[in-house]
Amino acid sequence: MKIISRRNFNSLTAKGLGGAALLSSAPFACAMGANQDKKKLGIALVGLGSYSTYQLAPALQDTQYCYLAGIVTGTPEKEKIWADKYGIPEKNIYNYQNFDDIANNEDIDVVYVVLPNSMHAEFSIRAAKAGKHVICEKPMGISVEECTAIIEACNEAGVKLGMGYRLHSEPYTQQVKEYVKEKTFGDILFVSADAAYRSTGNPDQWRLNKEMSGGGALMNMGVYAVQSTIYGTGENPISVAAQEFSTRPDYFKDTDETITAQFKFPSGAVGNITTSHNFNANAMYASGTSGWFRLQPANNYGPLSGETSNGDTIKFPHESQQKLQMDDFTRHVLFDEPNKAPGEMGKRDMVIVEAIYRSIANGGETIALDFEPGYGFGG
Ligand code: NAD
Repeated sequence: MKIISRRNFNSLTAKGLGGAALLSSAPFACAMGANQDKKKLGIALVGLGSYSTYQLAPALQDTQYCYLAGIVTGTPEKEKIWADKYGIPEKNIYNYQNFDDIANNEDIDVVYVVLPNSMHAEFSIRAAKAGKHVICEKPMGISVEECTAIIEACNEAGVKLGMGYRLHSEPYTQQVKEYVKEKTFGDILFVSADAAYRSTGNPDQWRLNKEMSGGGALMNMGVYAVQSTIYGTGENPISVAAQEFSTRPDYFKDTDETITAQFKFPSGAVGNITTSHNFNANAMYASGTSGWFRLQPANNYGPLSGETSNGDTIKFPHESQQKLQMDDFTRHVLFDEPNKAPGEMGKRDMVIVEAIYRSIANGGETIALDFEPGYGFGG
């Protein structure tokens, strides 16, 4: 089946400038030129686990175009802690049951879903139905079907959808895309990417429970490696073959421990990924007809680092990737700037993830992939 884009005709203007999108109370801290009168968008974080607590909420203290306006939590004790720490009014605090009432809250423009993977689809769809723009964490869902349902719900509601793929907003990844686009190292012939960490924590955590996570290392870190091969070549793959390795079956009872996969791309380039919950790895390397570049680390919260065959070091000042990502998404909502990580990108990655699992189930069979050129690429 060919995977093609479905254009979202439901523009913000059709909804009257995005419903509540421009009505929030906190003013922009910066000069906005013609948009000076517009307000920061209010974001509600759904799920106050480690990513929201240690990355997103702190980043939202520094964002220029959005701010932490609300929270949605299933843990009542967190309500006061977060309200006190971030000055969140009681009327902007929801639980999973009364979440749909957020439709009536003009302070909240964007709902950011930061729950275990199996809950992404339900809350993204409920957020869209409430008329809120949606940021969905990776992986987008636990099946392609769920990703399609999220995209359709956002299209039907006329709200914008972005993925929590923070790397698309940070400068090292943008530099890689630039090298590929400008053919700085010629035509890319080979790309490899590793994204892995060693998991030794609670064996009952949701990430090791297939029903909640959808899968193990591949669902968690593997999507970064898949993505590196795509922006490292500038192409979507046309086939994949994969292998699974298990050395700690008592710990990884329900989910994949280590997976390797090989891709072919339309240009003839080949790619290789490794992802694991059993060891640490964090790199990407691309080799072209006239040189190479690498990032190591390539996918953590930064600062990243890189070098090229020219002897150059790739170096940028460090900024919070999450801050950059959320400002990029809100600029997309406010000013129709390009969506750097659209929902189709999350769906494309899930098509690839499912093909990898199918290849493994079929003893490493090569699975054909048929994406429209550029499908899922962000702006
Ligand atoms: P976490 O386990 O620290 O937090 C999960 C949150 O979900 C907790 O607040 C928990 O109370 C809540 N929850 C609700 N129902 C639950 C249930 N039935 N079981 C378990 N928890 C439940 O996880 P996290 O690290 O914050 O990850 C959340 C999401 O964010 C995941 O989808 C993950 O892939 C994604 N994530 C993305 C990045 C990134 O760099 N983009 C980094 C970390 C996590």
